[in-house]
Amino acid sequence: MSDVCSLTASGLLTVDAALAQIKASLSALKNSEKIALQNALGRILSAPVIAAIDLPSDRNSAMDGYAFSSADIQSNQSFTLTLAGTSWAGRPFTGKLHAGECVRIFTGAVVPDAADSIIMQEQVSAAESVITFPANCRPFQNVREIGEDVKQHSLLLDAAKKLHAADLGLLAAAGISEIAVHSKVKIAIFSTGDELVPLGQKLEPGQIYDSNRYILNGLLNDACFEVFDMGVLADDKRLVEQSLVIAAENMDVIVTTGGASVGDADYIQQILTECGEVNFWKIAMKPGKPLAFGRIGKCTFFGLPGNPIAVMATFEKIVKPALMQLSGAAMQKPLRLKAVCESNLKKSAGRLEYQRGIFKQNEQNEFVVESAGQQGSHILSSMSRANCYIVLAQECNGVRIGEEVIVEPFEVFL
Ligand code: AMP
Ligand code: MG
Repeated sequence: MSDVCSLTASGLLTVDAALAQIKASLSALKNSEKIALQNALGRILSAPVIAAIDLPSDRNSAMDGYAFSSADIQSNQSFTLTLAGTSWAGRPFTGKLHAGECVRIFTGAVVPDAADSIIMQEQVSAAESVITFPANCRPFQNVREIGEDVKQHSLLLDAAKKLHAADLGLLAAAGISEIAVHSKVKIAIFSTGDELVPLGQKLEPGQIYDSNRYILNGLLNDACFEVFDMGVLADDKRLVEQSLVIAAENMDVIVTTGGASVGDADYIQQILTECGEVNFWKIAMKPGKPLAFGRIGKCTFFGLPGNPIAVMATFEKIVKPALMQLSGAAMQKPLRLKAVCESNLKKSAGRLEYQRGIFKQNEQNEFVVESAGQQGSHILSSMSRANCYIVLAQECNGVRIGEEVIVEPFEVFL
């Protein structure tokens, strides 16, 4: 149960308190698997990876040029060295470099032991095997040292890291072809409601197309999730109950939309109270007040509101962080920026509000934001236009043009 401090004056649970309760009751799923590196984009490491080799593992050149010893430099005057051979990328110079000699070298090629400096080819003049170096030639330049990127036996990547393209490159550079990752979180999504009609069918009066499953499929498009689209459930208590109980046996998470409030046809509450352990929260956030969170057997359950924008907001602010925790990923706070508001925004105190905004940089490079339009929780067109949330604190009671606001850019636009 929530303590008094986590409730607002009107008895709603604050977003932070809801998140804290969810996080405290969930932990990363235990299953992990070994996968090939080429399939690892977006997956989450289940164990730290230690570097088996130094990176770079040879001293090599950062330039196409000439490798030489700084002991040969004549300060303030130009000097010549004799060309002793060539070090190619993948084909090192195998001879020995003596005083007074240099080696032609290419980017990535091994630097001979006796050399400690490389000069760009544009800065020398070459006449057969006599290479003339300029005055004030600088020592120790353009050599990539062993281990300067990663030291052998050091931590290459830590557990809980979500792998992006650079991580795949780093693992490949270190010679790692297989890694241990958390298994994908298996998530079933259901829409509920007698009024919902699948695409392709003509609408009768009172019917609407089911948009929530398309939204959720989009929001759940992540390599660490495996999504099972279970379709639409009519408002039939037995049908909903059977479907949820069966899904719970095979899934890690069930997400439903609709039917979570207290209308006559809202069976989700009744069912979950009977066959699971579920909290029904009125959350102090707009859009998205009602939210059910709990468990059916071992399966975590989220019952989201029906209105599409309430689905998006509660998903992103509450469900997504919880899913990331189940997936084993390290937690990340959303990026927040300050921007000058170019619209008047209506709000009354009481709930934290996520208003849809359009955010940009003006000609002075300042961040500015305007309202994306109507803010009703059924208005999808303004969400489609928006590229950020304007985050308005619980106590805020409106914003006037020119005031500074907090903006959270949508992840897809970062
Ligand atoms: P409910 O929470 O079931 O009372 O639904 C609240 C509002 O959301 C109603 O206007 C529903 O018609 C609408 N709604 C519920 N599910 C969906 C859905 N899958 N797609 C679009 N709108 C929905
Ligand atoms: Mg409904």
